[in-house]
Amino acid sequence: MNKTVLITGSTSGIGLGIAKQFAKEGYHIMFHGLEPNGAEIANEVGDKYKVKVAFSNANLLQSEAIEDLIAETIKTFGELHVLVNNAGIQYVSPIEDFPNNKYENIIAINMNAVFYASKAVWKQMKKQNFGRIINVSSVHGIRASEFKSAYVTAKHGVIGMTKVLALEGAPFNITCNAICPGYVKTPLVVGQIKDQAKAHNMTEDEVVEKVMLKKQAVKQFVPLEAIADMAILLAKDSATTMTGSSFVLDGGWSAQ
Ligand code: NAD
Repeated sequence: MNKTVLITGSTSGIGLGIAKQFAKEGYHIMFHGLEPNGAEIANEVGDKYKVKVAFSNANLLQSEAIEDLIAETIKTFGELHVLVNNAGIQYVSPIEDFPNNKYENIIAINMNAVFYASKAVWKQMKKQNFGRIINVSSVHGIRASEFKSAYVTAKHGVIGMTKVLALEGAPFNITCNAICPGYVKTPLVVGQIKDQAKAHNMTEDEVVEKVMLKKQAVKQFVPLEAIADMAILLAKDSATTMTGSSFVLDGGWSAQ
C-alpha cells in the first residue's frame, strides 16, 4: 500500500528534495508552498515517479488555512501517514533594528505552524494507529548565531514541541522527531549569501567560506539527499521507537 505524506514548503529547496525522495519510495504526496509554479512542480514529480500528487498554496501565517490544508490532504488521499513540517523563512538583523513584523512572521511560520499542523493531523494519525511527524528544525535549534533572534528562538521551540509530541504520540504509534541541518544551498541560503556579501563587503565566495561554513568542520553545504534520506528513515514502520530526538546533520558544527 502506498502511504501518503504532506510536506510543507515542498515546492522549493529542502522540502522539494524530501518530496522527490518520498516519491521515489512510492509515497503519494501533498505538495505545498507559495511558489507560483507549485502545481507544475507537483505534477512533474508525480509523472516521473508514478505516484498521486496534489498541491496547496495554503498560507501558513493563518491557522485556519493550515487546518484546511490538513483536511484537504485527508479528503484527497483518504489517509495521512507522514507530516513533514518543513516550511520556513529567515531574517537576519541585530535585535535593536529587528522589525517586529519579521519577528512575528518567523515565529508564526517556523514554529506556530508546526503546532497547528501537528494538532490538525493528530485525530487521523490516532485513528490509523500510525503517524510520523518530522520537523525540519536546524542546527540553530541547538546552537545560536548572532543576528538571528527570531529564527533561533523558533527553531529551539520546535525541538521542545518535538519532545512533547513524542510523549503524547507514544501510545498511538505516532512518532515525532526533528532534523537539524547545517547550511544547505537552497533559495533561502542563496538570498542570505547575497545579503551577507553586501553587509560584510565581501565577495559571495568569501561569505560562503569565511562566514557561512566557518562553524562547520566539514567545509561543504549539507546535501539535500542526506536530509531526505533521514526523513525516509524516520517515516518507516520500523522507526517506531525513534521518537523525541533531534537528528543533527551539521558537518560537525555542534561537535565543537
Ligand atoms: P526555501 O526558501 O527554499 O523553501 C521554503 C518553503 O517554505 C517554500 O516552499 C516557501 O514557499 C514556503 N513558505 C515560506 N513562507 C510560507 C508561508 N507563509 N506559507 C506557506 N509556505 C511558505 O527554504 P529551505 O532552505 O528549503 O528551508 C526549508 C526549511 O529548512 C526551513 O524550515 C529552514 O529553516 C530549514 N533549514 C534550512 C537550512 C538551509 O541552510 N537552507 C538549514 C537548516 C534548516
